[in-house]
Amino acid sequence: MLDTLGNLKRTHYCGELRAADSDKDVVLMGWVQRRRDLGQLIFIDVRDRAGIAQIVFNKERSPEAHARAEELRSEFVVALEGRVVRRQKPNPEIPTGEVEVLATRLRILNNSKTPPFTIEDDVTASEETRLRYRYLDLRRPRPHRNIELRHRIVFEIRKTLDELGFFEIETPLLTRSTPEGARDCLVPSRIHQGHFYALPQSPQIFKQILMISGMDKYFQICKCIRDEDFRADRQLEFTQLDLEMSFPHQQDIFDAIERVMERVCALVGVKVARPFRHMEYKEALRLYGSDKPDLRFGMELHNVTEFFEPARAALNFRGNMQAVLAPGAASWSRKHLDELAEFAKAAGARGIYTAKVTAAGISSALEKYLGAEGLGKLSEAVGAKPGDLLVAAAAQDQISHSDLSLNVAGQIRLYLGDKLDLIDRSKWEFLWITGFALFEWSETEKRWVSAQHPFTGIVEEDIEKLETAPWECRSKGYDLVLNGNELGSGSIRIHRQDVQARMFKALGLSDEQARHRFGFFLDALTYGTPPHGGIALGIDRVVMLLAGEKSLRDVIAFPKTAKAQDLMSEAPSTVDEAQLDELGISIKPKAK
Ligand code: ASP
Repeated sequence: MLDTLGNLKRTHYCGELRAADSDKDVVLMGWVQRRRDLGQLIFIDVRDRAGIAQIVFNKERSPEAHARAEELRSEFVVALEGRVVRRQKPNPEIPTGEVEVLATRLRILNNSKTPPFTIEDDVTASEETRLRYRYLDLRRPRPHRNIELRHRIVFEIRKTLDELGFFEIETPLLTRSTPEGARDCLVPSRIHQGHFYALPQSPQIFKQILMISGMDKYFQICKCIRDEDFRADRQLEFTQLDLEMSFPHQQDIFDAIERVMERVCALVGVKVARPFRHMEYKEALRLYGSDKPDLRFGMELHNVTEFFEPARAALNFRGNMQAVLAPGAASWSRKHLDELAEFAKAAGARGIYTAKVTAAGISSALEKYLGAEGLGKLSEAVGAKPGDLLVAAAAQDQISHSDLSLNVAGQIRLYLGDKLDLIDRSKWEFLWITGFALFEWSETEKRWVSAQHPFTGIVEEDIEKLETAPWECRSKGYDLVLNGNELGSGSIRIHRQDVQARMFKALGLSDEQARHRFGFFLDALTYGTPPHGGIALGIDRVVMLLAGEKSLRDVIAFPKTAKAQDLMSEAPSTVDEAQLDELGISIKPKAK
């Protein structure tokens, strides 16, 4: 039999009780974590979002409540009345461990089927089962902690930006496609059959229009939807802090974001140093082989092509050769070296060449190719010290307009940094990357495409090269990087209609195509557009890093799987024929 809540009111969260609450009469509500029946005494752990409290039912003192407690099973929902007392044997493992509650009355508000897994942090169920029963999975303490942190972060962002004079303005979900380089998710219109809305890849055009509207400082915590082929750390829909300012200098945007990040990091006790460092894109690639370098450790790359030049034919490599020094790895076993070589190959290396540096000298199979002198010069040039392992690699593939050897060496650097435990996990290294090229070469499309999006501003001196030498145009874009993760990107925008039109043309859009897709925006630009710029940060990633989690799914209440499915609600799903008819849609048989 189930009880009702009546007019009973909760006085405390279970997880809040402390020694100072001793002798208080309390009313608690929550779920039964477990029950231990010792006959005369029944112990239950009751859980709510704040934590767990131990409740004792004494047969002699409260026979009625004790009898009721015999019915309890895992995940039953209960309301309890009782008195807080100090435990005879405190449990230092949990925050409420100094006290327990002597129950005087128990109401069973609901029962529960036996859950498919126990509601504990070290859950052994597969992620698939957990996502299918996400409501149970979310009952665990860790998701609770993450979701609470997420709330605090978003709240702090709102407070900070409000203090800085930003307005939060919503932009539509059902809109026209805006290009962020991904595929659109389309929504068919019932009223206008054959027409589609696109879900926003980002509010980019709308926020720029808000600047044209004189809103001056805008932000939004918004959902963006990009139908990309899934990568491990991507979600079909994700949340951005999106922001735009009128009349800004780049530094104004940096300042706003730095303040936000400073306040948000303080929530988890992390003190960040402002202003953040700046680095040119080319420099980041040259030194770290990445446009999102992890600066928590050194191990910079060295271009050692000249030292390998005499052996180019013998070693049969193309392009450049990069090297890193792995401190302490001179003693690595064959097995470790083989694993490294395997990793490097998977990362796109043609293979790796290693040299062990010891007090006695350098030992390496490379000596055969470079000679003892050549090897000596190489190790001197990179500053090798005894104990170091020199690792050199060239890329397997070559593509136009980029040096893949840097990318390969950058990944080797990260691998070694991790294996050798060189990454100082207590560090929070923020970094602004600037100096991007406006276009990048698309190997698949065999043409120049926007490195970011087509509204990114162009360094003034380069505007005249748009038609003649687009690859030389520098952009006014920037990225924010934290500990090797790209948190977001933005730019000072194009605010002149004529330049925007030339930009579309440079991207291969005819006047007609540009008008069809962006006519309204090109028109808007002609009515007194102020210089403006902004940025967007990935909130999921920020929360993930601050929560110390490794997966975005751990900080999103209802995430999708790597196959873009919501296992709980079973989306996507088929729909009724009648719904399709209303939309004037029929499903084509899948092409073989
Ligand atoms: N809309 C861009 C993005 O989502 C960010 C920006 O340029 O502000 O990456």
